Amino acid sequence: MSKLSPLIGSDYPFPPKPAVLSVQEKLDYKEKIKQLLIEKDAVLVAHYYTDPEIQALAEETGGTVADSLEMARFGRDHKANTLIIAGVRFMGETAKILTPNKMVLMPELEATCSLDIGCPVDEFSDFCDQHPERTVVVYANTSAAVKARADWVVTSSIALEIIEHLDSEDKKIIWGPDRHLGAYIEKQTQADMIMWQGDCIVHDEFKASALRDMKAIYPDAAILVHPESPQSVVELADVVGSTSQLINAAKTLPNKQLIVATDAGIFYKMQQVCPDKELFAAPTGGEGATCRSCAHCPWMAMNGLKAIYNSLIDATGHEVDVDEEVAKGALVSLDRMLNFAAEQQLKVKGNA
Ligand code: SF4
Repeated sequence: MSKLSPLIGSDYPFPPKPAVLSVQEKLDYKEKIKQLLIEKDAVLVAHYYTDPEIQALAEETGGTVADSLEMARFGRDHKANTLIIAGVRFMGETAKILTPNKMVLMPELEATCSLDIGCPVDEFSDFCDQHPERTVVVYANTSAAVKARADWVVTSSIALEIIEHLDSEDKKIIWGPDRHLGAYIEKQTQADMIMWQGDCIVHDEFKASALRDMKAIYPDAAILVHPESPQSVVELADVVGSTSQLINAAKTLPNKQLIVATDAGIFYKMQQVCPDKELFAAPTGGEGATCRSCAHCPWMAMNGLKAIYNSLIDATGHEVDVDEEVAKGALVSLDRMLNFAAEQQLKVKGNA
């Protein structure tokens, strides 16, 4: 298996934390944002990992809180002319690629992702060129240029099904960039995969030994794990899944206590769907801990109220722009995923 060195968490330039606002400032910004969304024919599309007040604002104003696949679908299908994407850069790019005629704004264009940073297009393309017989499958957490180099894009909510499908066609796969998600899928499907060695600085911090200790304290709790976490953590899980799948599991599992290994932003939505359950954040501390993110993505945290307000007041420095040729290439691999997802949904409805 070909291996490339991953970037180490401490090598990433972490962004500064947004300024803390007073209660009154928050209320003022919220009111102004609500007004501006109407005036500018805009809708707020927020990821589950953004701060709870941003998720609440998206819901209150007729926008949505979702995973990256659903964010892309929602933005594409919504009637608003302007999309405010509260998330990270690749989500804004995906929205722009799917809806080139809409204005796509981001509160902070600098909000990125360690997986995206750790997978530069030139190096990744060289890696792919060394294995021309393989189908290139990339995670959504990549730049538009990397998506354009790929045959398929996947999100964590549909990655397993797509790799199973490709494996059933005897396709050999190049997977990038998340090594933990790739290893999980490889184990589940037994597909022939070679991996790019990137990781998410948030999920990579969860610690198996501390999680075992926590489970000993709460023996009746179910453990819910996002597959971007290390294999040793995934092995302890009762449920492994994407953000949406974990939220659904929180609702349907009989357990009254849940230990959750993913970004802490998810607790807003999770508590909403199961208000009677006790939720615990899986530990990032313990032996070998070097945690700088403490289970909250520093780039997601850049999506503050002030930044959203600024993007609505003046689009300069907030508008997402994707090179036309790159967008055309990325659309092919994105459309494959969206069409596959639509077919899967039809099959589920047909079997219902
Ligand atoms: S939580 Fe991890 S995968 Fe998600 S945007 Fe942040 S760094 Fe990227």
